Amino acid sequence: MLVGGVNSPVRAFRAVGGEPILVRRAEGPFIEDVEGRRYIDLVGAWGPAIVGHAHPQVVEAVRQAAGDALGFGATCPREIALAELVLGAVPSCELIRFVNTGTEATMSALRLARAATSRARLLKFLGGYHGHVDPLLVAAGSGAATHGVPDSAGVPAGVAGDTFVVEYNDFQAARSIMSAHGREIAAIIVEPIAGNMGMVMPEPGFLELLRSLCDSSGTLLIFDEVMTAFRVGWGGYQSIRGVRPDLTCMGKIIGGGLPAAAYAGPRSLMEMVSPLGRVYQAGTYSGNPLAMAAGLATLDLCRAPGFYDRLGANTARLADGLSRGARDAGVAAQVVHQGGMLGLFFATRPVLNFAEALAADRARFARFFHAMLARGVWLPPSPLEAWFVSAAHGEEEIDRIIAAARESMAELRS
Ligand code: PMP
Repeated sequence: MLVGGVNSPVRAFRAVGGEPILVRRAEGPFIEDVEGRRYIDLVGAWGPAIVGHAHPQVVEAVRQAAGDALGFGATCPREIALAELVLGAVPSCELIRFVNTGTEATMSALRLARAATSRARLLKFLGGYHGHVDPLLVAAGSGAATHGVPDSAGVPAGVAGDTFVVEYNDFQAARSIMSAHGREIAAIIVEPIAGNMGMVMPEPGFLELLRSLCDSSGTLLIFDEVMTAFRVGWGGYQSIRGVRPDLTCMGKIIGGGLPAAAYAGPRSLMEMVSPLGRVYQAGTYSGNPLAMAAGLATLDLCRAPGFYDRLGANTARLADGLSRGARDAGVAAQVVHQGGMLGLFFATRPVLNFAEALAADRARFARFFHAMLARGVWLPPSPLEAWFVSAAHGEEEIDRIIAAARESMAELRS
């Protein structure tokens, strides 16, 4: 009945084999299937569940909002309160527009960048995912740094051809494409920590280089922090790294599990969006009061003193346990982490780009995934996805995951 049994492709188990599991509820760090099996969850609804599933304060906030109506089609105080919280956390942003999904956020940010620069072209990075927006569903054509080709049926070649694609962390490729075409490029869009090819950290200086390349060619820098905003720290990775983008896309955590996302930036740019300016963008459900309530309650929990220190420490504990487990089992593994985000590759050297992510042992990951599932740990069903630790994962859960991983890794060697 459902296409492939799912409503979003990565939920299918194509990358690891087997049938997707039907889920009926989730609470705290746990997710439960329709047969009543409970797993420790490291998918976290693909990012939003940073305070754990069905947190009582978040659920209560949504209940209260629902009592006031499911939607108004007019501005409500919850939108203003969430805007204040988000803008207060992300210093590069003065004005914000809420939308419903990360896809809408990036699509709208691109339109704004194109309007602001009167340019059509874009630069993105291989393995970077920014939602299913036509000009961003683009793969590299032949040659090292080149015009993109469609990465999905139905994306016109002409649309894909406006997008240049180079490897993440490739300083030289970024420099040369910008020196040849910078003045035609409206925006560079980048995940400041890549989370859709597994987790790949930017090399020191890479984001800084993108900032300076944009500055010298009048190109806008868009940070797609849909995954990283409030995940790797309060205010996203830009606050940690100190690199200031022109526009920021956010999603996932700011909606606390309900559909909310946003794009934001300085007043001078955001004032170009309708109704103030000529960049048209609208939405029946944008700023939905239930989503705003869930986002507000979630961010309220996140801003408690020490929240990100504890989350980061638990994630570090998991990363350390996984690394040791792999070493003891004689399995080559690379583990990286930041805040509540973690990545594991079965590879002998640190993974810095998409080619290296694809070259990691993905068949081994598929076996590891099933070995973990059999031991009650729910990992993303793909080697090219980041793992999400929540504040509901206590030391006990972390240690159970590590114990399961040790057994699973020992099994991998055989
Ligand atoms: N950008 C990034 C970095 C993402 O990780 C995602 C979704 N995983 C998106 C954009 C698209 O968001 P959505 O699925 O809400 O459209």
